[in-house]
Amino acid sequence: MRTVEEHLQTVLAGVVPLSPIDVTLQDARGCVLAESVTAPWPLPPFDNASMDGYAVRVADVNAASDGKPAVLDVIDDVPAGYRASQALREGAAIRIMTGAPIPEGTEAVIPVEWTDAGTEQVRINRDVQAGAHIRLRGDDIALGQVVATAGTVLGPREIAPLAAVGRGRVSVHPRPRVVVLSTGSELVEPGGTLTPGLIADSNGPTIAAAVEEAGAIAFRVGPVPDDPELMLSVLEDQLVRADLIITTGGVSAGAYDTVKAVLSTLGTVEFTKVAMQPGMPQGHGTLGEDRTPIFTLPGNPVSAYVSFEVFVRPVLRRMLGHSRIYRPVVRAVLSEPLTSPAGKRQFARADLRVDEGRYVVSPAGGQGSHMLGALSQSNALVVVPEEVTELAAGSPVAVLRLDEG
Ligand code: AMP
Ligand code: MG
Repeated sequence: MRTVEEHLQTVLAGVVPLSPIDVTLQDARGCVLAESVTAPWPLPPFDNASMDGYAVRVADVNAASDGKPAVLDVIDDVPAGYRASQALREGAAIRIMTGAPIPEGTEAVIPVEWTDAGTEQVRINRDVQAGAHIRLRGDDIALGQVVATAGTVLGPREIAPLAAVGRGRVSVHPRPRVVVLSTGSELVEPGGTLTPGLIADSNGPTIAAAVEEAGAIAFRVGPVPDDPELMLSVLEDQLVRADLIITTGGVSAGAYDTVKAVLSTLGTVEFTKVAMQPGMPQGHGTLGEDRTPIFTLPGNPVSAYVSFEVFVRPVLRRMLGHSRIYRPVVRAVLSEPLTSPAGKRQFARADLRVDEGRYVVSPAGGQGSHMLGALSQSNALVVVPEEVTELAAGSPVAVLRLDEG
């Protein structure tokens, strides 16, 4: 029997981020940047107006007031996206809009609210300091400044400066393509007709959703009946489009545990017991010439999901290029007693909340590996160490958050 740490190290060994590809900024959302990006021009790229108003020389509006407005000829009009056709001369103003380039000779911009908004002549009711309402070239981002470093996870706030410095495409680690394959002759695709003895495949949709939530791409297959030849041919077919394969079911000690039977003969997949609950039977290895990683998760739905969280998700996060591959763990106070099997690390699904400034965690519903009823009421897993068999209410516990990073 392996410990959770030993199995985790085994499955992470040799896993590296997928080779970078160029994608559009839109497709890059959620991906990890594989290059550092510098600004090929300063931002703003040119001096421009920060208000709609009038470009003026300071001396021409000196001491202007409501009672004694400055009156200037409006000699030009510059919308955003255009340039003035002439320089600003003494005694004149140029109408200008927010974002438009500052005409030569301009010392300040008077907001339109301080004027009568004239188009031939403008009456200005206030004076102004040099530089007012002008955004200077480079005052945001300097030429050559690093706007994003390799390893950055690209969300809207990271994409904004990339777009602003003109990058249409960036180099990122691609999302792994993950084939999710349910096995079991009792399984029917959800929505299909159930006859006695059959059940709906819940692992397929659950694990596919978990794969997508981790940032990877899921391709669902199945359910595949417990038939060795069929299973092998399905696996071979799927290899071409997979960076990683996940199967569920068929890895216990039953007479029809086909996944184990079929993959054991190939010699590249190892079946082990991991000292944990749920999720004791685990299989992991590679398939095919490309040595595509494969995880064979147990069939019980909670075991499959917890196994995904504990072992597969960190692998996918590493393939995605993330430096933080694990869910955050917080310390919480247990709201009620909890028992745990000796010699196994228990991952008890639970509800974590903040109560009077501290984390409180309550085990959710039945803890049987087949019991899905309370899964949606849980947002966390209480991690009970191997040597601990009983925890009293009020005990401090480590809790893995399932709703964050
Ligand atoms: P196995 O690991 O194949 O022996 O399955 C263990 C238990 O999990 C059995 O009760 C199966 O019916 C159930 N099970 C296996 N695969 C699935 C699945 N995809 N969806 C729901 N239950 C499953
Ligand atoms: Mg089965």
